Amino acid sequence: MNIILLGPPGAGKGTQSSRLVEHRGMKQLSTGDMLRAAVKAGTPVGLKAKSVMDAGELVSDEIVSELIDAELAAMGPDTGAIFDGYPRTEVQAQILDELLAKHDRSLDHVIELAVDEDALVERITGRFSCANCGTLYHDTANPPVQEGVCDNCGSTEFKRRPDDNEETVRTRMQEYRAKTAPILPGYEARGIVTRVDGMASIDEVTASIDAILG
Ligand code: ADP
Ligand code: ADP
Ligand code: ZN
Repeated sequence: MNIILLGPPGAGKGTQSSRLVEHRGMKQLSTGDMLRAAVKAGTPVGLKAKSVMDAGELVSDEIVSELIDAELAAMGPDTGAIFDGYPRTEVQAQILDELLAKHDRSLDHVIELAVDEDALVERITGRFSCANCGTLYHDTANPPVQEGVCDNCGSTEFKRRPDDNEETVRTRMQEYRAKTAPILPGYEARGIVTRVDGMASIDEVTASIDAILG
């Protein structure tokens, strides 16, 4: 099974992807995570992407598509893919179709996480993650059980993304509206889109996704 989680920044794509990885053994393909790893490692891709990401704008279609191609090439044929944060433009959606065909895969579901834009700024500015294992948290909606200690690995080191500030979030939301939302009608025409209420609790969203995937 191959699925896309689609939604604006802060919609819950990363949070729900982790649960699908844990519950179903699928693989999360997050272009945002791949780009952040490239920035951290100082690779040529990372050097190019950093300032674009810090500004909240979109990295080139070629760069992100090459990252996805490489990940698909390295995956076992029986492992399902969760596309998280990709595709984000009409060109990327078209390239994804080509990449899926190339790797003998097809798209089963596009799950749209529908959220109220006003809530997104709060979600993003409250977001942090474990510096050791990457588990995602939120200051108020989803803090670790024991303050300052990661539920998953026990680490006491946490980090926040440099682009998770109010100003950049506004740009990222505009990019979503202008460039990403227009890819939905094409998928709708194929009858593979299901809308989920992303404003529900994390557990409720997971239950809705489980119901869709069966
Ligand atoms: P995305 O990957 O779509 O940008 P994340 O999964 O990183 O979104 O979630 C953004 C922030 O909102 C995180 O801090 C996360 O803990 C929190 N969050 C995710 N889903 C929900 C939800 N259903 N209700 C409240 N907070 C949520
Ligand atoms: P969010 O969790 O807020 O949805 P991501 O982690 O997916 O954000 O992406 C962070 C940044 O990385 C984006 O603002 C953009 O600069 C870049 N990026 C990630 N995925 C893509 C993509 N598919 N196309 C272009 N740029 C991307
Ligand atoms: Zn951890």
